[in-house]
Amino acid sequence: MQLADAIRTIPDHPKPGIMFRDITTLLGDARAFRRAVDELVQPWAGSKIDKVAGIEARGFIVGGAVAHQLSAGFVPIRKKGKLPHDTVSVAYSLEYGLDEIEIHRDAIAPGEKVILVDDLIATGGTALGAVELIRRLGGEVVAACFIIDLPDLGGAARLGDAGVPVRTLVSFS
Ligand code: IMP
Repeated sequence: MQLADAIRTIPDHPKPGIMFRDITTLLGDARAFRRAVDELVQPWAGSKIDKVAGIEARGFIVGGAVAHQLSAGFVPIRKKGKLPHDTVSVAYSLEYGLDEIEIHRDAIAPGEKVILVDDLIATGGTALGAVELIRRLGGEVVAACFIIDLPDLGGAARLGDAGVPVRTLVSFS
């Protein structure tokens, strides 16, 4: 079984010209979901990771499973206005305009080792914003993990330039 075969592609979603990579089919396949999580965490099996930070919303699903597997805590990174307690926020660029993501101010303690998780990296704008939030709280971003990489959009390379090791499982060009 290839993980890529468990991912559904929806042409022209959410707008014409976009090939949307949909992991709900992978999540619904017990073997594929377990294998994706096992492969993502493999480099850190047995290492001490304090927190896994997942990006809303699919990063919560994958990140929660990764956190459990690594016996780490889970920290949500959410769109602006969703987290109930004191937050720090960062603006990041989208294809058109800006968006904002937030993390609870007390979610990560200085010096904690953190792995960032999302379903997919494209331009890397969202993940770079998340890295900035974790670093502002004093966390050490040990790595960023994604099931899917769109290498033509350069996000993984950008994260590497920012000093973050990147792990991805499936590439679509
Ligand atoms: P980036 O900030 O350009 O790297 O975009 C990554 C963010 O957009 C992630 O949070 C992804 O969940 C979401 N995203 C972009 N393209 C897709 C896609 O084809 N499938 C699923 N999510 C996507």
